[in-house]
Amino acid sequence: MRAGERTVVLDFGSGAMNRLQSHLDPADVDLIAISHVHPDHCVDLFALRVYMVWGPGVGKTIPVFGPAALRQLVIDFAGEIGWDDAFDFRPMDRPAGRQNLGEGLILSWREVPHGPPTFALRLDWQGSSICFGADCGPNDAIVEFGDGVDVLVLECSFGTQPMVDGVGHLNAEEVGRIAAAAKPGRLLVTHCYPEHDEQAVQEGIARHYDGPAAFARQDHSVSA
Ligand SMILES: [Zn+2]
Ligand SMILES: [Zn+2]
Repeated sequence: MRAGERTVVLDFGSGAMNRLQSHLDPADVDLIAISHVHPDHCVDLFALRVYMVWGPGVGKTIPVFGPAALRQLVIDFAGEIGWDDAFDFRPMDRPAGRQNLGEGLILSWREVPHGPPTFALRLDWQGSSICFGADCGPNDAIVEFGDGVDVLVLECSFGTQPMVDGVGHLNAEEVGRIAAAAKPGRLLVTHCYPEHDEQAVQEGIARHYDGPAAFARQDHSVSA
């Protein structure tokens, strides 16, 4: 997300480094916030660490907000070298917290049900707001946290499939229910799989939510 001259990246999963490089120098990212430690949300930190420690980013440090376990987890996997030079790891308090990033830019987070400790993320800047629901099962916290935001980003891992007890993801109908309650300016649907029938997913969402909705597409930009 861009707020004026600043760039904040919400999650840094597989493929993120590659796409980011086509838009800007990754070393110029002002802050990264990681919702949870599943690889599809954080694994490209390994690539970015190489870029920052042995590549063009040497000498710079990017603040990384995330679950408390994140720093030790990446060190356990890849060794200690460079992590604390490349990144300033800042554990996010459970179950919720808020960080003023200066000049009116606010990062806030709120725990949502998934698997490991998982945080929905929200950015507010000059009256504009975006809320990213991370991966989550049905919950009221995201409704309250994302209430009335300009852009609400929700996962739809199950597509039109029925919900599975004990598995913290959403299907189209649950996405529609949350969006209908949160009333965002616009809904973006993400974490979808290629085999999903997009039209059927849209119809499932529309059974509950009649506001603007679209699928999050690679490299597309959205203004709030
Ligand atoms: Zn996950
Ligand atoms: Zn995921």
